Amino acid sequence: MSLAETLIERIRREGPISVADYIEACANAYYATGDVFGAGGDFITAPEISQAFGEIVGLWCAVTWQALGAPKTFRLIECGPGRGTLMADAVRAAARVPGFADAARIHLVERSPKLREKQRAALKGALVTWHDDIEEIPAGLAIIVANEFLDALPVRQWEKTERGWIERAVDAAADGTLHFTLGKSRDLDIPLTMSADAAPGAIFETSPASLDWTRRLAARLTEHGGAALVIDYGHTKTAVGDTLQAVKAHRYHGPLADPGEADLTAHVDFEAVATAAREMGAKVFGPTPQGAWLTRLGITVRGAQLAAGKDEAQAKEIRGAVQRLIAPEGMGLLFKVLAFTNPALEACEGFGEDASS
Ligand code: SAH
Repeated sequence: MSLAETLIERIRREGPISVADYIEACANAYYATGDVFGAGGDFITAPEISQAFGEIVGLWCAVTWQALGAPKTFRLIECGPGRGTLMADAVRAAARVPGFADAARIHLVERSPKLREKQRAALKGALVTWHDDIEEIPAGLAIIVANEFLDALPVRQWEKTERGWIERAVDAAADGTLHFTLGKSRDLDIPLTMSADAAPGAIFETSPASLDWTRRLAARLTEHGGAALVIDYGHTKTAVGDTLQAVKAHRYHGPLADPGEADLTAHVDFEAVATAAREMGAKVFGPTPQGAWLTRLGITVRGAQLAAGKDEAQAKEIRGAVQRLIAPEGMGLLFKVLAFTNPALEACEGFGEDASS
């Protein structure tokens, strides 16, 4: 039975399902299929665009490890590692910092068995432990990286109506097509300012799964030490807007058109993530635009090194890939970087004057 059929059956049995339940069902089916990234897949992410991305992230991990007192062992964690490219590039680059590679215990949080296989191949030889959830990772100081992970976690959508904010749900028509409808839940927690400004029909998104992840990690970092780096696309300030989108074979797709067969994401609300981290006692740096962050950490210099000695066509490709990551019209502005850390950490590389605590 296809996921579409399963969902239709469930909706006929239980009534419309929340957008978050719909996203969760789609994400589980979608990532289980395996290789959805890169030119031949549905979408391309920063580590797949240029190895310099993962290398810079690795450099950040190494500098942060030093700032945390260069502990003899620590947990190097990645959530949603995709093909494992970022971690492989990061570990290779960070290994140049004496002591880092010996101290790092690598933990990957990934539910898809097929993607775990890809990650195992990318990290050939490295000692890696996989987990379904961050809760399973043993205690201790940790450095955590999550690139395009939070955007894949479910969001709930709320529609402004004359009766207040009502949860949006997914229903099935008699002919089996899926469409949005109004559900039953009302949200009384949506900020009043948001309510006053929003026009009827406006959509507001919340991501309990992202905030839960943030709170649990922030509590861990506050208790055991460490730092988390979140890179994703989204907005700096909480705002109204329908950002749920589906991408299939590098083109936008209707979010309800082919459940489980397209990449379904929503923008990250960085203000909400920062607030959740602070509530658990963590210190927050950023969010800062990805372009500025990568540039401060030297990605342009790294790009030039990679291009040196290559023929003109290859050199142009390498420089072009780095540009795509940092240019305002590429991924430089829409994507943002936020760190939340143990409150004792004084500074955090790459955040410059955007640091906030
Ligand atoms: N970070 C990678 C991949 C991003 S795609 C990159 O930048 O290329 C999202 C990743 O998160 C996939 O690896 C997917 O399998 C994983 N993922 C999505 N939801 C998850 C969940 N609830 N728990 C664990 N992993 C999840």
